[in-house]
Amino acid sequence: MGAPRTIYIAGAGIAGLTLALALAKFGLHVVVLERNESVSEFGAGLQISANARKVLDGLGLSEAIAAKSFAPEGIDIFPDAREKPLQTLALGKAIQTRFGAPYAVMHRADLLEVLHSAARRFANIDVVFSVSDFTLEISGNTLTVSAEDPDGKKRKAKPFALVGADGVRSVTRTRYLDGPEARYTGKVAWRALVAPEALSDVLDLNRTSLLLNPDFHLVVYPLPHRNAVNLALFTQEKERDLSILDHRAPRITPRKDSRLARILESVGEGWTPWVLSSVKTPIWHKGAIGLIGDAAHAMLPFQAQGAAMGIEDAAVLAPLLAASPSAEHAFSRFAALRQERVNRVQEVSASNGKIFHMGFPLSLARNLVIRSEGPEGHFKRLGWLYGYDAIQTGKS
Ligand SMILES: Cc1cc2nc3c(=O)[nH]c(=O)nc-3n(C[C@H](O)[C@H](O)[C@H](O)COP(=O)(O)OP(=O)(O)OC[C@H]3O[C@@H](n4cnc5c(N)ncnc54)[C@H](O)[C@@H]3O)c2cc1C
Repeated sequence: MGAPRTIYIAGAGIAGLTLALALAKFGLHVVVLERNESVSEFGAGLQISANARKVLDGLGLSEAIAAKSFAPEGIDIFPDAREKPLQTLALGKAIQTRFGAPYAVMHRADLLEVLHSAARRFANIDVVFSVSDFTLEISGNTLTVSAEDPDGKKRKAKPFALVGADGVRSVTRTRYLDGPEARYTGKVAWRALVAPEALSDVLDLNRTSLLLNPDFHLVVYPLPHRNAVNLALFTQEKERDLSILDHRAPRITPRKDSRLARILESVGEGWTPWVLSSVKTPIWHKGAIGLIGDAAHAMLPFQAQGAAMGIEDAAVLAPLLAASPSAEHAFSRFAALRQERVNRVQEVSASNGKIFHMGFPLSLARNLVIRSEGPEGHFKRLGWLYGYDAIQTGKS
């Protein structure tokens, strides 16, 4: 038997670390190059849906994730400043039974820590932090990766493949695959964490809450392991008005003493704005260089599926890189298996942006649909999304 295949991954984010674990299980040698000094604390809450959770459970992370996540009982939907929810979508047991895995929420940094701790236990995974840049050269069928390690040592390797999991502003995509720059979507996310006491008599903190308004929507869910509540408020901002990001609060004027007013008061000037960009490109690979995660298909977070798609990507790509005769073959098969699904999820996410921000009278029709679908209708309609089995797809 020869030496195991070596796969380089650019980026120790959710997609890159999940791929490292999935490849290591096939006995491959994995090197992850990350420009940050450690796994990043950046960001806040993430909803991890059943389709993603099944992959993480398959990597043996079920207990570690359960210990750091929370499974809300449902999603309360409040359109247009209603006092009572118009509908509560059933999560909890209903999701577990329907899709065979829970729907959980957790802090992004906790998920990264779970993935990185698991990676540290594999002798065949090296995660190298503080690698400020890397270069790739292709000559015939040979790919050469060059980088400078944090101790100043020059690294030159000829791996089987390099996977760009380097996020929405991926240089793997723009520099080596002639792919497009990420595009501003016209939407800004405002994120905050507050103490549960600040909201315990405003919202049911055993559930996720979704507040819909013509100009914005707000998603709120508890992160008990951080003793915090996660808020993500999404506004529409023209590109020329992005100076708003110098402020620490969105331009929203709620009705006095309303639920929304109390939620906004709980955060004050404590918001962190984040410009939302997306990536749409049919070119996910060239030769031995390929893309996964946001690098390939960053999307609006309005179906809470960006990270989930990166996690699925990892499960599908790993067996292909382990067994295909060439990296190019593996990446072509990967694109054939994944692009249609990812495009569909991108479209659903973008369309949710329009639905969530509908003004009167369209909002009346939307509310009617939400009510008539019932507590489980949403998940029946999206069975294709949450019921997907990425591990089986990768074996197909
Ligand atoms: C407000 C908001 C809410 C969201 N909510 C959800 C949700 O509920 N559920 C969900 O599934 N998704 C959600 N998402 C989307 C999710 O956060 C992203 O899709 C996901 O984090 C992308 O993971 P990734 O690993 O592809 O990229 P990233 O997380 O961006 O990781 C890329 C990594 O590559 C590194 N890197 C970049 N360039 C280089 C380089 N040149 N060399 C080396 N390393 C490099 C970066 O430092 C980083 O560590 C949300 C997004 C936002 C903005």
